Order: sequence, then C-alpha cells, then structure tokens
Amino acid sequence: MASRSSRMDRAGGVRARQALDAVERALRKPILDRYARLTTSGKPVTCQPRADERNGTGPSRGSKYPKVIFDLEAAALAAARELVRAGCRPMTAYPCPRSRRGHWHLKTIRQIDADQ
Ligand SMILES: [Zn+2]
Repeated sequence: MASRSSRMDRAGGVRARQALDAVERALRKPILDRYARLTTSGKPVTCQPRADERNGTGPSRGSKYPKVIFDLEAAALAAARELVRAGCRPMTAYPCPRSRRGHWHLKTIRQIDADQ
C-alpha cells in the first residue's frame, strides 16, 4: 500500500510540476521575446545540441534541451530579474560552451533547503 501511495504521490507531483511549468512558460514568453535573440518572425532563437551530442558520439557541450539565446550577459540577467519578479524560479546567466561568437543562456538556480 505504501509503495502504491508513494507512486500516486509522485504522479501527482509530476502533474503539479507540469502545470507549474506551463504557467512559467506563459509568464516567460513576453519577457524572453523582449530580451532574447529573435528570428525575423520575432520568435526567440534557440541553441540546440549538435547531432554528435544528441546521438552520443561526441562530447556534451551544454544542455541537451533547446535553450533560448541571449546575445549579451546583461540582456540575460535583465530577463532573469524580470522572470523572478513575474514569479518564475530564480535564474542566472551563463556563457554557452557551444557558442563560437559568444552567447548566453539562463539556468535555474537550485535553492538549498535551509531546513535540511
Ligand atoms: Zn548555446
């Protein structure tokens, strides 16, 4: 019983996390549209893992998921500040190891639970 209950709690937790992710995506969009590098159609440009990273034949150079590109650290940090004010999880900027000319991404700061 305990393990079934535990599985259900995990499933509920995943659903809650997915719902929160959807809320965060909706909050993030107008902010990212303002600070990110945009396509000619006005959508944020993303950085994708190369084919050799995806299929495991080359070294991993960054996130395995597409990440929104910021041309400047200042733009990434400004977006991070606005995202936090909008209710998103705390984020910080980092230079992309994949970038040839230099671009930045945001990543969530994992907070340490002070109660642990
Ligand atoms: Zn990148």
